[in-house]
Order: sequence, then C-alpha cells, then structure tokens
Amino acid sequence: MATKKKKRTKVVCTACKKTSYFTNKTKQVEDKLEMSKFCKECKKHTTFKEVKR
Ligand SMILES: [Zn+2]
Repeated sequence: MATKKKKRTKVVCTACKKTSYFTNKTKQVEDKLEMSKFCKECKKHTTFKEVKR
C-alpha cells in the first residue's frame, strides 16, 4: 500500500509577506488559492496567497 500524499500548500500574507500558514489544498481552490486570515505582523485580516516552491 502506497502512502497517500497530502498536498500541503503554503500561503503567505500579501501585505507583509512575513506571516505564512500551511493549508490543505482542496479541489475547490485548485486554480488560485486566496484566503483571508489574521496576520500577526499586520495585526489585521489580510489576503493570503499561495506560494509555489
Ligand atoms: Zn501581513
């Protein structure tokens, strides 16, 4: 049995680019991943975008 690979996606704050989160990619957001999260650096909710490694 092969182990199922989990797609872990890193998202960073578009405002400061310092804060990042890891998220599991779902089919709904396969094209472009954008989400609103609370940023510790900006001290407010900002848009987080996926970063490709
Ligand atoms: Zn930020």
